[in-house]
Amino acid sequence: MAASSLSRVVLPLSRVSPRRFPSLSPSLSSSSSLAAPRAFSLSASSLSPAPHMSSPPQPARPDQPPSTGTHAPGAGRWRPMCLYHAQGKCTMMDDPLHLEKFNHNAARDLQVSAADLEHLCPQDLDHFLVLDLEGKVEILEFPVLIIDAKSLSVVDLFHRFVRPSQMSETRVNEYIEGKYGKFGVDRVWHDTATPFEEVIGEFETWLAQHHLWAKEQGGKLNRAAFVTCGNWDLKTKVPQQCKVSRIKLPGYFMEWINLKDVYLNFYHREARGMMSMMRQLDISVLGSHHLGLDDTKNIARVLQRMLVNGAVMRVTAWRSPKSPDRVQFAYQNRI
Ligand SMILES: [Zn+2]
Repeated sequence: MAASSLSRVVLPLSRVSPRRFPSLSPSLSSSSSLAAPRAFSLSASSLSPAPHMSSPPQPARPDQPPSTGTHAPGAGRWRPMCLYHAQGKCTMMDDPLHLEKFNHNAARDLQVSAADLEHLCPQDLDHFLVLDLEGKVEILEFPVLIIDAKSLSVVDLFHRFVRPSQMSETRVNEYIEGKYGKFGVDRVWHDTATPFEEVIGEFETWLAQHHLWAKEQGGKLNRAAFVTCGNWDLKTKVPQQCKVSRIKLPGYFMEWINLKDVYLNFYHREARGMMSMMRQLDISVLGSHHLGLDDTKNIARVLQRMLVNGAVMRVTAWRSPKSPDRVQFAYQNRI
């Protein structure tokens, strides 16, 4: 790649540091400007699970640094994700400075120790697909993280920026400046965004590669379910975008797990959103809230904690193929 193109790739990657949220990430507020966050401790929880689903409380363990075995120098401190790499488009993997500045491993902030797995409950599902869309008018970002239900490890990440199909260029530019300019990722959005129908095509290829779904068979995921924070993503936004993009709602979007419903019925405590769940569980927020990829990773950390505490994840909302406009819910107590 020509040097001029490379510099074009470097510039947009400046991102806000997690210090934007000092009050919510105590581990990041120490005097050193980019001090290493304490490793995410899955077992320390201020909440007790509901009695009928309880497991013995886990002893508090000292925080451990993230595994550094396969990481570049400087692996101890939190680093923003390379948003080109997340979309398979990073051209700077041989540049040590770039590798030191940006995280190229989605699993890095989601490490789980063997001790964390002691109180896991058996699950009906083999994989959880954590999804957190961004974009109110049209979808702008589509991140999905696969979490293995037994090891709680990250299997893979799918991330795409999505180009609206029914907006003028001027409006798109304003929209992206307002939404992503503050994170310093508007340039990477413009460099990489593709229309929703293309994203869905690539997503289906990716699902098939992981044996989670087969195009020929269509229908539901194979022993897997989407996990979202609220019902909005799959109840409202994806069907809306499918209409705008003139594609049929894919069968795998017909059911999902609303993590907030499981949270309410497991801990018997209400959490309005991702930030309140993280606050109540004493999990520090990493990255930029409302950057879809960072939110997805943070929601995955809440999911990991709930599983470590003994929660069972089952589908909480579904549409029947016969009446797809109607959504049915598993829990009576919902948020
Ligand atoms: Zn990169």
